[in-house]
Amino acid sequence: MRVYNFSPGPSALPLPVLEKAAAEMTDACGSGQSVMEMSHRSRDFKAIIEKTEALLRELMDIPPNYRVLFLQGGASLQFAMVPLNLAAVESGPRKRAAYVETGVWAKKAAGEAAKYVDTAIPASSGDRAYSYIPGLPPPDAAAAYYHITLNNTIVGTKWAKLPELPGTVPLVSDISSCILSEPLDVSRFGILYAGAQKNLGPAGTTVVIIREDLIGRAPGRTPVMLRYETHAGEGSMYNTPPCYGIYVIGLVLEWLKNLGGVKAMADRNQEKAELFYRYLDSSGLFRSPVEKPFRSLMNIPFTVSLEDEARRKDLEDRFVKEAAGAGLVNLAGHRLVGGMRASIYNAMPLEGVKALIAFMERFEEAGRNRHV
Ligand SMILES: *Cc1c(COP(=O)(O)O)cnc(C)c1O
Repeated sequence: MRVYNFSPGPSALPLPVLEKAAAEMTDACGSGQSVMEMSHRSRDFKAIIEKTEALLRELMDIPPNYRVLFLQGGASLQFAMVPLNLAAVESGPRKRAAYVETGVWAKKAAGEAAKYVDTAIPASSGDRAYSYIPGLPPPDAAAAYYHITLNNTIVGTKWAKLPELPGTVPLVSDISSCILSEPLDVSRFGILYAGAQKNLGPAGTTVVIIREDLIGRAPGRTPVMLRYETHAGEGSMYNTPPCYGIYVIGLVLEWLKNLGGVKAMADRNQEKAELFYRYLDSSGLFRSPVEKPFRSLMNIPFTVSLEDEARRKDLEDRFVKEAAGAGLVNLAGHRLVGGMRASIYNAMPLEGVKALIAFMERFEEAGRNRHV
């Protein structure tokens, strides 16, 4: 039996995608081979990677002066590649880059960049446990770039409005947990990057969307694999790319296109999230710790509202366990923040969210009966 999987990543994939991959497992597109067995230089695989890129370009409306790269190393490697390619210097004074600190991943990105550039933190929401997106001071026009994490996977916030920057300062964003969840104006960014395992496909592929003029700036000593021009120059085939992952991403994009594209997906995501937040805000037992204007559509943390710490933890553990027993799995919050979290990416159907709410209502009701 399939469960409703609320995992933050790797996360649920659409069932039709898994079924298609299964049907093509031993013979993909009449090649007599699995995609896992194909040469990445073969005509069959070339058709797969080209189709995947074309679909991503179409669905995200990526302008022609941007390149799409399929890399490895996760979003975490981009934490290093971005500063190495945009701002590291061979010698002389270091350049400066701005990092807005909106959560654990944003902080990690800034920490990695600090090895190569001077990092400025123009704003942080760390004072209130990252439960909101901070307002920004006027941007530093001399910054090499400005980095934001568009959707904060662990704390469940998202930027409602992009920062306004001078044209000379590229905006760079980690969109690992929100890519293709809502329309996004790619032309506002210099670089977008996303690990695939949240909203795109299996773990192991990282998608990078980069404006052409930002390619080719890495200092000479930068390892060849960490330079964007290496991958851009070879169509993501400098070395063996994550072939099977790219193929599954292609299937996910086809599925998304058939559902009506990103706008239709955004409507669906809005409906799912609204239903869940409405329930949380009306519940006597559960609550959302995130300030309303900044609530994520993709990752929804929640806690039990009980003063007593030990009793709260007990009840939360019990909730996660009983939910799993009812086929609603991976609802524990991130180990750093505790509580619960429902990740409801594109692949989570409305029925899954309704099933979770119904379970939470029953759990709350049972609690009331337990206490009388
Ligand atoms: C999951 C996640 C990461 C880490 O991704 P890896 O692919 O495991 O390196 C980074 N940033 C965000 C926003 C994430 O959700």
